[in-house]
Amino acid sequence: MTVRVRFAPSPTGMFHVGGARSALQNWIYAKQQGGVFVLRIEDTDAARNKPEWTEGILSALDWIGISRGSYEGPYFQSENAGEHRAAAARLYESGRAYYCDCTREDVQARTGSQYQGYDGYHRDRNLGPGVGHALRFRTPDEGTTVVVDLIRGEPTFENRLIEDFVIARGDGSPVFLLANVVDDMTMGITHVVRAEEHLPNTPKQQLLWDALGVKPPVWAHVPVVVNEKRQKLSKRRDKVALEAYREEGYLPGAMRNYLMLLGWAPSGDREIVPWSVIEDEFRLEEVNPSPAFFDEKKLRAFNGDYIRALPVDEFVDACQPWLTGTGTIAPPPWQPEEFDAEAFAAVAPLAQTRITVLSEIVPNVDFLFLASPLIDEAAWAKTMKDGSAELLDSAIAAFDALESWDADSLKSTLEAVGAERGLKLGKTQAPVRVAVTGRTVGLPLFESLEVLGRERTLTRMRAARLRLV
Ligand code: GLU
Repeated sequence: MTVRVRFAPSPTGMFHVGGARSALQNWIYAKQQGGVFVLRIEDTDAARNKPEWTEGILSALDWIGISRGSYEGPYFQSENAGEHRAAAARLYESGRAYYCDCTREDVQARTGSQYQGYDGYHRDRNLGPGVGHALRFRTPDEGTTVVVDLIRGEPTFENRLIEDFVIARGDGSPVFLLANVVDDMTMGITHVVRAEEHLPNTPKQQLLWDALGVKPPVWAHVPVVVNEKRQKLSKRRDKVALEAYREEGYLPGAMRNYLMLLGWAPSGDREIVPWSVIEDEFRLEEVNPSPAFFDEKKLRAFNGDYIRALPVDEFVDACQPWLTGTGTIAPPPWQPEEFDAEAFAAVAPLAQTRITVLSEIVPNVDFLFLASPLIDEAAWAKTMKDGSAELLDSAIAAFDALESWDADSLKSTLEAVGAERGLKLGKTQAPVRVAVTGRTVGLPLFESLEVLGRERTLTRMRAARLRLV
């Protein structure tokens, strides 16, 4: 039997990190089993779908390493609508489903209590099809439904507690629960690896598989992803869109490595491992069923490690979208013609060891390309205190007299200027840094000045000095 898995996102919003995690787990499982990964876009919720969300899913998958052309599909659920209706009709004809025109209020009036599910009123009343008649599945009165789940063992559900659920609405349209089963059936899916939130639907879906006469798939419900307060990640509250992480400058390698650690770990005391190790060692059966904490701080630290591990030329390439403003990434504050690739290449190794997401490259290097630095006024006020004007005067004179404009000479010169005033280098360099870069933190100062050049450095220092008059 060839293993066939599927990833079945609904295009109703930005692609969620939890979805990316499920996609990767499916992807690896298929690869390990010599199986097939199918992509199915579940687009039957017409009111909430948008074509751009589908495009977003495809490009996000591509970014994370599940590239177009390397999987089967994408199929679209809406294309299989005929099969969904045919299955509903088969279930009705075989007596496994019946029509019902009760409203919720009708049921409540009969049961006289809080609504606790459908009461089976129409089970044996032979109501035929008609406008406003929903089709309900006749669940067995006894026995249990045992879900075979690679992560959760064998969750067992008592059939008598499962209500006769709706499979097609009053307008005849099949509901998602049925469409999802029929699609898996027609696509020959053998393993359903999906988020835990679908588990309550699984016994119902398994009953549908049985009623349609096909062996149900093996299930694997992967744990829900939560924030630091143990709340399920929500798009209203948390940063959940994979796209947002991409725009901020997370590397796809770091992202997918981190996502695979949600509920699982490779052997040894390792977390950052090559993708090939994850592909070898990952076991769906080993995934911890408890909620998995999505720790953005940890992801960021991971990303910093991944950035530092890049060969410098790859780091330079990886920074390009932020240096130029590509696609949905905001343009930098300088004009394209102000950018100097050589100057950037000179400071890139210094930046590479300091930034944790690629978007941080911009504030670290903007001083090199802008005609005058973007002054952070709070930093200016904090740094330019009594004595700064005189200190800048001395530094300007000393730098102006330098024979060789290199980082070591700049450093020893400024050190000497500070020493005359009994100041340590840290204190001496702060006003110079603010004058030249506009900020109190950034790349190592003297290397930065070397790359910026004598003329531009002195012009900025003089401008700052004038402001202090
Ligand atoms: N379309 C469903 C979702 O996005 C997935 C259902 C499934 O994987 O079975 O949540």
